[in-house]
Amino acid sequence: MKKNDIYKYLTLYRDLYGDNIYSNSRMIKNNSIDRTNELHDYLNSIKDCLECPLGKMRKNIVLGMGNPNADIVFVGEAPGKEEDLQGLPFVGRSGKLLDKMLASIKLSRKDVYILNVLKCRPPENRDPSKAEIGKCEPYLKKQLEIIKPKLIVALGRISAMTILRSKESLTNMRNKIFDYEGIDFLVTYHPAALLRNPNFKKYAWEDFKLIRDKYSHV
Ligand code: URA
Repeated sequence: MKKNDIYKYLTLYRDLYGDNIYSNSRMIKNNSIDRTNELHDYLNSIKDCLECPLGKMRKNIVLGMGNPNADIVFVGEAPGKEEDLQGLPFVGRSGKLLDKMLASIKLSRKDVYILNVLKCRPPENRDPSKAEIGKCEPYLKKQLEIIKPKLIVALGRISAMTILRSKESLTNMRNKIFDYEGIDFLVTYHPAALLRNPNFKKYAWEDFKLIRDKYSHV
């Protein structure tokens, strides 16, 4: 192909598909913009949030951790006691299990990004209220908009319901690929649910195999 033809082809490709490259309908390369600074600046701008009463109760805000350029983002529900103390997501018992699940598909925290719907711990780890979710959701949306992953994995029903605006049961939602604003979206069990009901682990393993086979190739 001549240089001019290559240029024309790439221009047409970009008009059709944007800055991502697809092969056999699978995205194989995220566009190469480094999102570290943008995410860092954004998180800095929201770190003192006092939009809801949870802000005053926290020891630390828990904004997220991992690779800002990740292809896969995991979204949990809200920080627990340990997360509140350390200011990091999934560092308690659930987090240890999440690490093992990631390792089972040869991923680590450095490969993915992990965050929560709520950035502050609800007292006694109760479910997030609608009002709290309403205040925190724009932060989640903006984080996802900056990271632009290929896949969002909702850990548990609260996270799935918040993002998908669905009241379906987790059993009905899991192991299917939904679309969230052009991004693939998968629902699986929250690690805390797996600690309570180890017999669900076989289903979570199916979901993680799907992640491995379709998204964790890079
Ligand atoms: N559970 C969550 O949903 N998120 C955390 O960060 C920890 C426990």
